[in-house]
Amino acid sequence: MLKPKAQFNKVTDITADFLKKNNITAVILDVDNTLIDLDRKPLENVEKWVNSLKKENIKICIASNSIKKGKIEKVAKKMDIPFIYFSTKPLKRGLKKAVQILQEKNENIAEIGDQLFTDVLGANRMKMFSILTKPISGEKTKLGEIKRRIEKIYLKKLV
Ligand SMILES: [Mg+2]
Repeated sequence: MLKPKAQFNKVTDITADFLKKNNITAVILDVDNTLIDLDRKPLENVEKWVNSLKKENIKICIASNSIKKGKIEKVAKKMDIPFIYFSTKPLKRGLKKAVQILQEKNENIAEIGDQLFTDVLGANRMKMFSILTKPISGEKTKLGEIKRRIEKIYLKKLV
């Protein structure tokens, strides 16, 4: 349940070609540490990447666990994609909403994010294609650091 189907250094490394080869017609994107860093700075070339997927008719929706609606809305508006905030991943609630927006079968949807216990677990529970990316920036809190260390241990065992 915690094993990602694929791993990339950053979202912008995931090509439309790769997605198509894996029968993916839509993607759900995490925001924090996936599209923007902890200082809210967007990942380099991320808008260009979003446009490259759109051009290939791959549907996109944001699902963030953040409760900061304004922050998520700003990112979504800039890229002109629908968004869900406070999505409670790995619970199915928010991801189900995303499926309604995307109108695609779960097996044809990739859920992309930087955390095993929210993004990957959520995707696998929904039988979506889970893609783990590396967090853009390091953790700022002790708790965040511990979480990352635990993830590393799990990843080593899984992959
Ligand atoms: Mg994240």
